[in-house]
Amino acid sequence: MTDFKGMLAAHNISRRSFLKYCSALGAMMAVPATMTPRIAAALESDNRPPVIWMEFQSCTGDTESLLRANRPSVGELILDHLSLDYHETVMAAAGDQAEASKHATMEKFKGQYICIIEGSIPVGADGVYCTIAGQTAVDILKKVGGDAGLIIAVGSCSSYGGLPAAYPNPTGAVGVSELLPGKTVINLPGCPMNVDNLTGTIVHYLTFGSAPAMDRFGRPKFAYGKRIHDNCERRGHFDAGQYVENWGDHGHRQGWCLYKMGCKGPASFHNCPTLRWNEGLSWPVMAGHGCVGCSEPGFFDTMMPMYQRLPNVPGFGVEASALKIGGAIVGASAAVFATHGAVTMARNWKQVNQAKTETREMIKETTDAEK
Ligand code: SF4
Repeated sequence: MTDFKGMLAAHNISRRSFLKYCSALGAMMAVPATMTPRIAAALESDNRPPVIWMEFQSCTGDTESLLRANRPSVGELILDHLSLDYHETVMAAAGDQAEASKHATMEKFKGQYICIIEGSIPVGADGVYCTIAGQTAVDILKKVGGDAGLIIAVGSCSSYGGLPAAYPNPTGAVGVSELLPGKTVINLPGCPMNVDNLTGTIVHYLTFGSAPAMDRFGRPKFAYGKRIHDNCERRGHFDAGQYVENWGDHGHRQGWCLYKMGCKGPASFHNCPTLRWNEGLSWPVMAGHGCVGCSEPGFFDTMMPMYQRLPNVPGFGVEASALKIGGAIVGASAAVFATHGAVTMARNWKQVNQAKTETREMIKETTDAEK
């Protein structure tokens, strides 16, 4: 295995570019610039923690995000440098061979390996909706997650249940932290997660030996500490009262605010507007589609209907604060959800209410902190 310096050289990445990347990564993680050499040293060391990547109920979107590279960047090389010992979708091994590889890693690196989980875990019907090698996802998660040094839930499904947990949640889907009480689980929600946030989280762990600071939903603050609405390039149009009223209308062509088209940016926390996708090229709102709030607990249910302007939202414009609007969206969303009859499932309703209350509190905390 080539060492990390060798990998950089093989891809014609200069040391200057590498240090520039480390500096940018440090800025993203909100650590002082003086930490750049420490980040570089951690990446250049031969410490390659093994990774076991487990996929349960998901669409493989987070794996797609991991593999999205069209040319190797330093970030992708960092992920390549890790020892990905088990990943059902990308590993060459299959069957007994794959299981043997997983068990060998768990035994040899007990308490040290990184466990990454993609997809929700079904607990209904004793977990039979998702089994691998004769074991339920619940049992596999408890075993692999229980002995890991670091646990990262990638995507909304593994973080909070996501789409599989939407009403009527036929499989009883839940997120990772519900099944690993007492363990620190880092949630990187999003549909899918942005792989740069995964890189940042892993680099933080390699550099400082600990998880980054997290919010009440287990999300790293460096990635989920700011409201989408506050960093959106369409915000000026929101404040000026310029809104898209129909897809393809004059306002849409001019890049006006998508609030009336159902944008949930005022109630969502994620670094999408600043990090963007495809090497910083674009993100959904820039491309002309409103934010769907996919990184919030309770997504999908709390953020529907996707394209309707939500009812009972107070007037907005320069005089309305994002706090009022964000809170109204969360409340109105749940109200619409109720009218659709989804409340018949008690467990889901409880979760939606919980998510709604906590999101409101977070919106208030963030707004107070910004004053
Ligand atoms: S409502 Fe949506 S489109 Fe409009 S400024 Fe906020 S985040 Fe951007």
